[in-house]
Amino acid sequence: MDALPFELPRFEAGTVWLVGAGPGDPGLLTLLALHALRESDVVVYDALVSDAVLALADPKSALIYAGKRGGKPSPKQPDISRRLVELAREGKRVCRLKGGDPCLFGRGGEEALALVEAGVRFRLVPGITAGVGGLAYAGIPMTHRDTNSAVTFVTGHAVGGAVPEDLDWAALAGSSQVLVLYMALKHLDAIAARLIGAGRDAATPVAIIANATLPEQQVVVSSLADCAQDAQTAGIEPPAVIVVGEVVRLRATLDWLGASRAEGDRAAPPGSIG
Ligand code: SAH
Repeated sequence: MDALPFELPRFEAGTVWLVGAGPGDPGLLTLLALHALRESDVVVYDALVSDAVLALADPKSALIYAGKRGGKPSPKQPDISRRLVELAREGKRVCRLKGGDPCLFGRGGEEALALVEAGVRFRLVPGITAGVGGLAYAGIPMTHRDTNSAVTFVTGHAVGGAVPEDLDWAALAGSSQVLVLYMALKHLDAIAARLIGAGRDAATPVAIIANATLPEQQVVVSSLADCAQDAQTAGIEPPAVIVVGEVVRLRATLDWLGASRAEGDRAAPPGSIG
């Protein structure tokens, strides 16, 4: 790494760093994540890690894919944990790279527990989670003084793939002013119906942010009543985070990314590409 006015921790041989890769834009990496990518002997990465981030790994570092691809069954979690232990025992500096933050719906805790059990030293390097980075890149503040004093991160996908039953959807509908839903696109109609059924206003604004922070980012603004249909009409594909709550209205004024793109269009001479 270029000279910094402070020392970053040494990435010791035989240790594993569980590193958050952020939602996609490589500019959202932490210095520690970049350091881990540069110093690692091996990078074990998940499906949601962007190519632009992976490209920052040391060219001599081995890249091992540990995510789902083309609908094939994903490697089993115990196999991934075992592999991390093996690589560490071979004396490698292992960068275990996960999309967003490793410990928010990312199984970072499970892998860390397996490392502790095997006596392998590890470090947690947090990342910008999709529900934080995505909102910022959609011009939606997570909290706003006039609208909310709480935010709740929710998964819309239980272990078996169904809408989680262990969640108190009625309590969420009533008490959580802003909900940020992960893995919820598939069941968005059912989730919206549960929230409305539990008393949440059907007109509550909703934003669906797909491929957040990447050049292909797509944002659909809708209401709780119409969001599932509108997402389908717009052809939204995962990964997407979904924001439910009054803060979504601020996007109309705060969409800095849309504004800068529009400005770029105006600045471009006719016929130019870009
Ligand atoms: N640990 C990750 C979450 C993994 S769960 C994090 O902190 O972000 C996978 C879910 O994350 C996806 O279904 C989607 O809801 C969300 N997600 C991850 N990357 C995303 C992106 N670039 N844009 C939108 N949603 C994303």
